[in-house]
Amino acid sequence: MLENSSRMELSELGEFGLIKHLTQFVEIKNESTIKGIGDDAAVLDYKNKQILVSTDMLVEGIHFDLSYVPLKHLGYKTVAVNLSDIYAMNGTPKQITVSIAVSNRFSTEALEDLYNGINMACIKYGVDLVGGDTSSSRSGLIISVTVLGEADKQNIVYRSGAQQNDLLCVSGDLGGAYMGLQLLEREKQIFIETPGIQPDLEGYDYILERQLKPEARKDIHDLLRLLEVKPTSMIDISDGLASEILHICEQSKTGCTLYEEKIPIDPQTFETARLFNLDPTVCALSGGEDYELLFTIAMSDFDKIKHNPDITVIGHITDQASGSNLVDKTGNVHKITAQGWDAFMKRND
Ligand code: ADP
Ligand code: MG
Repeated sequence: MLENSSRMELSELGEFGLIKHLTQFVEIKNESTIKGIGDDAAVLDYKNKQILVSTDMLVEGIHFDLSYVPLKHLGYKTVAVNLSDIYAMNGTPKQITVSIAVSNRFSTEALEDLYNGINMACIKYGVDLVGGDTSSSRSGLIISVTVLGEADKQNIVYRSGAQQNDLLCVSGDLGGAYMGLQLLEREKQIFIETPGIQPDLEGYDYILERQLKPEARKDIHDLLRLLEVKPTSMIDISDGLASEILHICEQSKTGCTLYEEKIPIDPQTFETARLFNLDPTVCALSGGEDYELLFTIAMSDFDKIKHNPDITVIGHITDQASGSNLVDKTGNVHKITAQGWDAFMKRND
C-alpha cells in the first residue's frame, strides 16, 4: 500500500497544511460554483435548476481492503460511484465534497495518491471539488463523498415511474465487478497462506478494472439525451440487478418479466464465474458494484435504442399482481428475490 520510497508524516503538515497540499491542484470548471474550497462554506448558484444531492460513505475493512486496492483507484472509484447516483436521476453532477478520517498509519504520499484518483475523476466527469472535512481516525480510513448535481425539473427520472408494458433496459454488462472481487480475494488468500507468491492476475484485466476502477455511465446519460429518450424510471446497479429491479417494481407498483438469456454478461466474467464454480447469471443478479444504469422506456422509444450495442432490453414491466419474475434459459419461471432468484442453489447446468 505505502510503497512510496519517501514518507512525509501527516503531523509534519498539520491539518490545514494537509488540506492545502491535497487540494492544490483543484481547478473550478463549472459556472454554478461561485466559491469552492477555502471559506466556511462553498457557494453555488444553480439559477432555475433543481438540485440533486447524494452521499456515500466508504469504510476500510467494510467497503474496501487496502491490501489489494490501490489508493489512487479508491479515490477514483469513490467519486465515480457517487456520480453514478446523479446520472441515475438523469441529472448532471457538478460539485463534490470529500471528507476523510485517517490514522497516522498513512503518509502524506499515500493521501496524495488518494487525491490524485479523486482529481482524475473530477477532471473526467467535469465536477468541482468544493470542500470537505479532515479528521484523524484511530482505526481505518473512512471516506465520505457528497455530490451535488442539477437537472431541469421535467428531466428528472425517479424509480417510481415505470408503467406496464415499458421495456426494461440495462447499459453495459453485469457481474464483472463481482468476479473481479472474487479473483482479488482468492489471490489475497493465496498470498496469506504462501507469502512471497506473486498474484496471478494476468488475463483478467476487464473484471479487475470493473472492480477497481468502475466508471459512472455519463455516456449513457448523454446518449439518451441525444436520442431524445427519457426513461420512465431509472436506478443505478450498485447492489445487483435483482435488488435494483425490485426497487423499481416496488416504487412503481408494477411487476416485471426478466429473461435470463438477455442479461448481458462479458465473456471474461462468464469464464471466470465458471472457473470459480459460480453461476454467471447469479453473479449478474446478485453481484453488485457494476454501476450500470437500469431503466425503463416506453415501447414507442424502442426504435431509438434498438441498434445501440451499449443498451440491452432484458425484459418488460407487467402489472403488480403478476409479481417480479425471471424466465430462465429453459423457459421455467422463477420469482426474483433480492438475493438473485429462488432456484439458483439448485442449478448445476
Ligand atoms: P472548518 O473549520 O470550517 O470545518 P476546515 O479547516 O475543516 O474548515 O476546512 C477549510 C476548507 O477546506 C473548507 O473549504 C473545507 O470545505 C475544505 N476541506 C477540508 N477538508 C477537506 C478535504 N479532505 N478535502 C477537500 N476539502 C477540504
Ligand atoms: Mg472542518
